[in-house]
Amino acid sequence: MRAIEFEERDLEAMVPDLAAGGAWTPTVLRWRRDPLTGAGARILTGVKLQPPTRPELGELTAKPAFCPFDAEHLETATFPFPPEVAAEGRIRFGRAVVVPNVMAYATHSAVGIYDPERHFLDLEDLTPAVVGDALTAMVAHARAVRRVDPAAVWSSVNANYLPPSGASLVHPHLQSSHDSCGLTGQRLLAERSGAWSDEGGSYWDALVEQETDGPRWVGATGRVAWLAPFAPSGFHEVWAVVPGAADITELTEEDTGALGRGLSQVLAAYGTWNLASFNFALIGGGPQAREHGYHVVLKVVSRSNPQPFYRSDSTYFERLYGEALIDLSPEEVASGVRSLF
Ligand SMILES: [Zn+2]
Repeated sequence: MRAIEFEERDLEAMVPDLAAGGAWTPTVLRWRRDPLTGAGARILTGVKLQPPTRPELGELTAKPAFCPFDAEHLETATFPFPPEVAAEGRIRFGRAVVVPNVMAYATHSAVGIYDPERHFLDLEDLTPAVVGDALTAMVAHARAVRRVDPAAVWSSVNANYLPPSGASLVHPHLQSSHDSCGLTGQRLLAERSGAWSDEGGSYWDALVEQETDGPRWVGATGRVAWLAPFAPSGFHEVWAVVPGAADITELTEEDTGALGRGLSQVLAAYGTWNLASFNFALIGGGPQAREHGYHVVLKVVSRSNPQPFYRSDSTYFERLYGEALIDLSPEEVASGVRSLF
């Protein structure tokens, strides 16, 4: 098996030291490159950006007069799938319910509600069963979509949680994308995995083998391996790798249960760090995933803590896939600006 080379470099900088009256003082930061994608990361010296306390979420998360995901409104405020996707209309597993998304951001997109009975679930309420059951229901929908539309070969299951993550609804939910285009970061992972396997072996097998029991190793749930990535793309980033599953549709109920257990534990750690918001992406490998030695990957990152009157315009699309999700076309932007020229 081809060995992964982890490339990193210390960068020496001089900064005025506030504590020393502005005296120029040497400091070091670490630059790293992701061995698969080439994406760089900078790991700074000194913890300056972490929240000292947990935010008060009561006002933000109070149950409003109307929320489409609440049990008493769900049947009238959401719509059933066509019978060829779900004979029963809505897909249910445990407490979770999956319904069609009313905003199209992929050929097929669904919303999964972890628990319609509870308007807000704090991090500790996202238990292994709550998360695992929601993932199981989303995978059931993914399989149904693939049967109905075999061209929708790029699948992912994702989440924005609270407004700093780009979520427009507070009620905790997941979202999926299934279409023939895939997402930028998803295609990049698939292409680079294919290029790696051309030179021998699966990148993901090599990654799990090399990282097991090392300083970035987190642990295992079922056949799912959990680790912190060498060159993260976000704060507190943790990955899960599912050996044996190349696509979302190949995840077994054991896998979604194992992913739910691990994700629940990661989110519990976020809670102990005073964090409140996160994105995750569960990424299928596309039409050639198996020949590319691709394994389903889950990436989870924390986001800024909530502040009043603010919703981030960076969702899991931008944050974890490097792909813009916008609702005003470049032509409309040009037209609006042009009138002032
Ligand atoms: Zn609600």
